[in-house]
Amino acid sequence: MSESFYGSDFAALQSFDPEIAGVLLSELDRLRGGLQLIASENFSSPEVLTALGSTLSNKYAEGYPGRRYYGGCSEVDKAEELAIERCKTLFEADHANVQPHSGASANQAVYGAFMQPGDTILAMSLPHGGHLTHGTKVSFSGKWFNAVHYGVDPETENIDYEQVERLAQEHRPKVILAGGSAIPRLIDFEFFRRVADEVGAVFWVDAAHFIGLVAGKAIPSPVPFADVVSFTTHKVLRGPRSGAIVCREEHRVAIDKAVFPMMQGGPQMHSIAAKAVNFKECATPEYAVYARQVIDNARVLAESLGERGIRPTTGGTDTHLSLHDLQPVEVTGVDAEARCDAAGITVNKNAIPFDPQKPNIASGIRVGTPCVTTQGMGTDEMKVIADLIATAVTTGDADPEHAVSREVRAQVSELVERFPAYPR
Ligand SMILES: *Cc1c(COP(=O)(O)O)cnc(C)c1O
Repeated sequence: MSESFYGSDFAALQSFDPEIAGVLLSELDRLRGGLQLIASENFSSPEVLTALGSTLSNKYAEGYPGRRYYGGCSEVDKAEELAIERCKTLFEADHANVQPHSGASANQAVYGAFMQPGDTILAMSLPHGGHLTHGTKVSFSGKWFNAVHYGVDPETENIDYEQVERLAQEHRPKVILAGGSAIPRLIDFEFFRRVADEVGAVFWVDAAHFIGLVAGKAIPSPVPFADVVSFTTHKVLRGPRSGAIVCREEHRVAIDKAVFPMMQGGPQMHSIAAKAVNFKECATPEYAVYARQVIDNARVLAESLGERGIRPTTGGTDTHLSLHDLQPVEVTGVDAEARCDAAGITVNKNAIPFDPQKPNIASGIRVGTPCVTTQGMGTDEMKVIADLIATAVTTGDADPEHAVSREVRAQVSELVERFPAYPR
């Protein structure tokens, strides 16, 4: 085995391309210098980043380990075999496909495996917390398939399970999909399984957001209930920007054929190696502690924001994220996002269920704790962060030079200095 690793030569990049080198440095400064509360982001480890920045990026390996369309795949085969085995073990799944390039690509493959154009899918609506790939009109999923959407109950703001069952009986969908990008509560997978069986549908869980909490055994797994589970690897999970699918043995061939050659070309072997590293990290006791802390932090952050009048929908969270209704404080989502941004806090505006505002204005923000928990922050810091957000949102301004922006930013700096992302 070679002793020397080739890659990550930053000095060489700086001398050849100072413009892009400058972007890499200033982006690192940006994420170190502020609070990152985007619920779908995280800070992957130097080990994951090393695999990503490797010569495995060069290799064409269409096909699967041992069955490639190209020669020279002996070494990348080992990486993919490790990734598959670790993924299956981590999620106690019959089969894993680690080739999807992203969450959306993984979802495309699930459609490809189980549906023909024109077939019906029952999924959560985007404005109630679903995802673009769950049958919205602007996505392939809504253009090529007939999507029927369930939402949340106006009282509980949680999934309207009665509506799920009623729509399933009425429309007899080929596939029933659970999961989304702004669902703060646990999903009753057993219920969905029963409804899918009643109508003879495939039960698919898009676990992109919460799969890391499952990996850390902090919340129940969808794997025993679902036919197929798709996910991203870069959210709570903390791996490279990518995707994967696990499924029951009976669907193995359909899923593998749908990922390649139906939807994708050559797999990104550097990313697959990085996924293998990430799955190994997720099997450690430290990661389980992390996953539980992410939830504890999210609970305290949601509750503390609520105490400042920034109401958490559903009354709180069981996961890594909470969705907040800003109507009580009379601020729009777009303004809250800009005020936080000016104060060194990155959050995203988000529609809340039954939102009276247009999606580009929105009445809510979504906050998540994967990044700040990776930095080592705990519940005490979440209370501080809630105060900073509430101050910025209710009294701040989109102008970074505004007194409140400066004041909050100074406190953010003090906090991130004590809990650095990517310590020097
Ligand atoms: C993030 C997300 C995706 C898409 O993942 P990308 O890697 O951005 O393509 C799909 N589904 C859900 C529910 C998500 O939250």
